[in-house]
Amino acid sequence: MMFHMSDIVVENLTKSYGNLIALDNVSLTVHSGEVFGLLGPNGAGKSTLLKTVVGILKPTSGTVRLNGYDIVQNPEKAKEIAGYVPENPSLYTGLTVKEFLEFVGKIRGVSDDSLDVKIDESLKIFVLEEKRHSLTGSLSKGMKQKVAIIASTLHDPEVLVLDEPLTSLDPKTQRFVKEWIASLGRKGVTILLSTHNLDVAQDYANTIAIIDRGRIVAVGGIDSLRRMADAKSDARLDEVFLRLTAESGRE
Ligand code: ADP
Ligand code: MG
Repeated sequence: MMFHMSDIVVENLTKSYGNLIALDNVSLTVHSGEVFGLLGPNGAGKSTLLKTVVGILKPTSGTVRLNGYDIVQNPEKAKEIAGYVPENPSLYTGLTVKEFLEFVGKIRGVSDDSLDVKIDESLKIFVLEEKRHSLTGSLSKGMKQKVAIIASTLHDPEVLVLDEPLTSLDPKTQRFVKEWIASLGRKGVTILLSTHNLDVAQDYANTIAIIDRGRIVAVGGIDSLRRMADAKSDARLDEVFLRLTAESGRE
């Protein structure tokens, strides 16, 4: 099977909620196959940016293109290209895990045969086979998170957008999901994720953007971020982060 690769290009994106400017002229590019970490304090605009990238929110101004397709002009194309896991995924609590995944897969236009295979495979990878016939409402928070992640990938998206994917997971599952994200990146999936877990960003993201009050205050690999923050070459990302967000606050 031919594997397509897509990039994410955000240009001059502004998003306001009434008087509040949640994103202020944000531009960034996530290259095909890159794991791009969006790092910022609460309220920085991370979730707003991710929702706008997948087309759930409309930009106030500016553009988002997935693989060249403007998400406002080509919403169907955007849905095909991207998978998205929201911050607090809600599952239909009255369906079993399998029923829920079948439902999502059908909406996503996955053919019955490949959907069956994909669901089996995913439940195995995520160690959820035993829960196949359990109601989603009976699952632990971490298991729900895993089901939401599986649901987002049923249509083999070229771009995966994950909003704080590790937040409700135990350390072992966190490690597993981090490895899984990294392996998708190696397969060529373009991954944009938000986190306030600095270790995640440091260990798994090729590129990190630090966002504060709706603005990107720094973008780069960990080494170039250290330089920007004027930090020592072995400075931990949390020091770099605190310096960069403190600087943007003084403007
Ligand atoms: P983050 O995910 O980085 O914590 P958000 O994107 O959720 O930040 O929020 C950015 C800002 O926009 C915050 O000030 C938040 O209160 C505000 N905001 C987010 N969603 C809405 C909404 N639906 N209506 C009004 N304000 C919102
Ligand atoms: Mg958020």
